[in-house]
Amino acid sequence: MGNIIDGKALSAQVKDEVRAEVQELEAKYGRKPCLVVIIVGENPASQVYVRNKVKAAAYTGMDSRLVELPADTAEDELLGRIKALNEDPAVDGILVQLPLPKHIDEEKVIDAIAREKDVDGFHPGNVANLWLGKDCIVPCTPAGVMRMLDFVGVDLKGKNAVVVGRSNIVGKPMAKLLLDRNATVTIAHSRTADLGAVCRTADVLVVAVGRAGLVTGDMVKPGAVVIDVGMNRNAEGKLCGDVDFSSAEPVASWITPVPGGVGPMTIAMLMKNTIACFLARQKA
Ligand code: NAP
Repeated sequence: MGNIIDGKALSAQVKDEVRAEVQELEAKYGRKPCLVVIIVGENPASQVYVRNKVKAAAYTGMDSRLVELPADTAEDELLGRIKALNEDPAVDGILVQLPLPKHIDEEKVIDAIAREKDVDGFHPGNVANLWLGKDCIVPCTPAGVMRMLDFVGVDLKGKNAVVVGRSNIVGKPMAKLLLDRNATVTIAHSRTADLGAVCRTADVLVVAVGRAGLVTGDMVKPGAVVIDVGMNRNAEGKLCGDVDFSSAEPVASWITPVPGGVGPMTIAMLMKNTIACFLARQKA
């Protein structure tokens, strides 16, 4: 029977750490860290994520601003807003909620955010530094997964880790973080020949695909730690992960639920990243 990794409880712990840090930073530097979240359009899922991010920021006591722009906002208008925020000394972190409406080039927008304010860790400079093993802002979701693995005390050295999914925001940085801890890492994707066989080699299995129930219990090695990053809606509109929880849970040693797993950790790590950006700017 797998033990549940309670992302909600752990994220509350992280947010409490940040709350204490915000107080210390304000006492030391005379101002609080400030996060700006930009949303373009009315994607309902994005609206929920954005609301949760602003709510988390309020809980930690840091300053936050929500910029809501209509779906037909021109790319130049958005880039102009980002430029102004880059230049605003009161702003430490800028996050543009993805996905953006089709007429806006996401890559251009990501590149436009000043690297030192890139709380998502998506800027090419941050990505390069992550892969070079230099100081950087680590993308929130993989950072949250690492915190979960540390929480349950998994020693990754020499373990087989399989990451299913190779996106720039989850799969690839996840693989690098596991590699940094001396795991032997395999990245699986849509063209992987026998996904089940690859997954069964995993002592630690991280699934970030976006297909409800893709990974079933028979694909899990007995005793593996299973981390489900997926966020999907099933036919009834209920939030569910990429892992079929009911068949995987009896096989795993530890497993994350959806909801209440990686999702809340992503938001908590965003708060941590905002603190890191604030501190880096104080030192610069
Ligand atoms: P993405 O950019 O769409 O990437 C999905 C990856 O899954 C791709 O690399 C794709 O392979 C691979 N894939 C697709 N079908 C597959 C299959 N049948 N077998 C094996 N691999 C397959 O997605 P993402 O942004 O990484 O997000 C993945 C999931 O995590 C989504 O459900 C998303 O909502 C969720 N998510 C959750 C959080 C959170 O905070 N919990 C944060 C971010 C994302 P190819 O490269 O070959 O196409």
